Amino acid sequence: HPHLSKLLVVFTLSGGGGLLAVSDNSPLSAAYADAGQRDITKKKVVVLGTGWAGTSFLKSLTHPSYEVQVVSPRNYFAFTPLLPSVTNGTVEARSIVEPIRNIVRKKKFDAQFREAECYKIDTQNKKVHCRSQKTNLGGVEEFTVDYDYLVIAMGARSNTFNTPGVLEHAHFLKEIEDAQRIRRTVIDCFERASLPSVSEDERKRILHFVVVGGGPTGVEFSAELHDFVNEDLAKLYPTLKKHVKITLLEASDHILNMFDKRITAFAEQKFHRDGINLKVGSMVTKVTATEISTKEIATGETVNTPYGMVVWSTGIGTRPVVMDFMKQIGQTNRRVLATDEWLRVEGSDCIYALGDCATINQRKVMEDISVIFNKADKNNTGRLKVDDFKEVINDICERYPQVEIHLKKRQLKDFVHLMKHSHGDDEFNIEKFKSSLSEVDSQMKNLPATAQVAAQQGTYLADCFNRMEICEKYPEGPLRFRGAGRHRFRPFRYKHFGQFAPLGGEQTAAQLPGDWISIGQSTQWLWYSVYASKLVSWRTRMLVISDWGRRFIFGRDSSRI
Ligand code: FAD
Repeated sequence: HPHLSKLLVVFTLSGGGGLLAVSDNSPLSAAYADAGQRDITKKKVVVLGTGWAGTSFLKSLTHPSYEVQVVSPRNYFAFTPLLPSVTNGTVEARSIVEPIRNIVRKKKFDAQFREAECYKIDTQNKKVHCRSQKTNLGGVEEFTVDYDYLVIAMGARSNTFNTPGVLEHAHFLKEIEDAQRIRRTVIDCFERASLPSVSEDERKRILHFVVVGGGPTGVEFSAELHDFVNEDLAKLYPTLKKHVKITLLEASDHILNMFDKRITAFAEQKFHRDGINLKVGSMVTKVTATEISTKEIATGETVNTPYGMVVWSTGIGTRPVVMDFMKQIGQTNRRVLATDEWLRVEGSDCIYALGDCATINQRKVMEDISVIFNKADKNNTGRLKVDDFKEVINDICERYPQVEIHLKKRQLKDFVHLMKHSHGDDEFNIEKFKSSLSEVDSQMKNLPATAQVAAQQGTYLADCFNRMEICEKYPEGPLRFRGAGRHRFRPFRYKHFGQFAPLGGEQTAAQLPGDWISIGQSTQWLWYSVYASKLVSWRTRMLVISDWGRRFIFGRDSSRI
């Protein structure tokens, strides 16, 4: 229907975001058609992982000169921002996953998926060693896959900081199975606490839910759990409500540290009003089957608290297979795999890494900035004229978006004007400017480990791969890339679109670009519409929207299945 198709186009354009594929009608495709099909041997691309980075790479890769093999222990893509909603049944697990084979089958080039994990990368022979999981259909199968280009998008593991007992007794919230397990455990706790033989103290222990980590995931999960208990379980287990306690433990002074202070303050006050027990400055030292031990940073005192369920959400660490690979390529003194700004693994020319498993090495930012300044300061005076300075700043911002982000962050709409003002003449002192940048050098180094970054990196890399052949054919590069001078592609540039912090009770906080803050129910509706539009397919979009509708009308389902 013409109206429906118009609607679909508008909706997709407004929300498809990071996962939209490059159009086949692009001028680039026309260029290929003009040039005629070249008889080239297809390059083998191996993609490890079907998360945000791997899937967005796969979706955006359109050029037919590749033969792609995707290897991952999960045969689906999971929309992680809605995982906390799965823990209480607001959204069903199947509504937020997309089978990877649905994406693979739509590819116009040779693409295959293997459900297996990579356990070793052999850079010498350009092979990855993989093994399937053991199932009741058979044991572990081992095989190798050859590559010309390897794309590592294996994400990260939950970090326990080697705290004793966490692996054995705590729940993580990283995968779909984790969210399903948490949902079952919450219901288990309520059913067990309802048994007549259970003592009052034991009942209190079982209904004490502890969340460790006051980052966005820990905060969102605490809020979701609070809503589940108050809106649904309280009606079904009326005698238990008074025993339920939710504690959120955070080692630093505040929760949501990466957000604006106003959001942190609002969230802390809301949790206080909701009766969520927020304990800041409290570091977990040990977890046993029934107790969690914390050290209070202010007093040094150790407290042992009985609990029924612990959810651990304190950050991420590097996977063992990636650590092993880092050793092979000489990145032994680093904790995270380092790439250059084109997402190529340092020390390798055909391996790329993106998403949570890698970080762009920005060590050279300050060195590069010095070189740019020294070039501009031809007479070596240590000072620059206004116009030269403006040019240099533009050049730096072009290469290093994080510098631009920093300048904007300080709300210096016209940085040049401010510099002029502070120095009182029409020349700028280079050293002063450089030292102002090095103050925040460490903050500029790493991009956040988010789906937004991973998806943008996947799209960027696929775009580079789509242009690879034409760049080899015309080595001087398309006109718009020549300016960069150092590489045939522009370096990866991250565009920050803001972030949400759902706080429960239909209240959400959002920090939008330009440091705009929005908090409340209207922001919750913004959250609904942004996340609905960001879901990867129409199928998942419809399922999630109907889950939200079902929850509004009938409440959440508390069956333990
Ligand atoms: P992942 O998405 O974790 O994917 C890694 C892939 O690698 C998986 O398919 C995995 O199966 C596969 N893999 C693992 N080991 C191997 C192996 N040995 N061999 C082959 N494949 C392997 N970010 C936001 O921007 N906004 C949010 O609201 C948000 N909410 C979140 C909520 C939760 C509960 C969580 C856990 C994360 C959230 N994030 C959010 C962060 C976001 O999910 C991650 O930053 C993002 O998933 C990183 O993408 P990735 O592709 O690097 O890794």
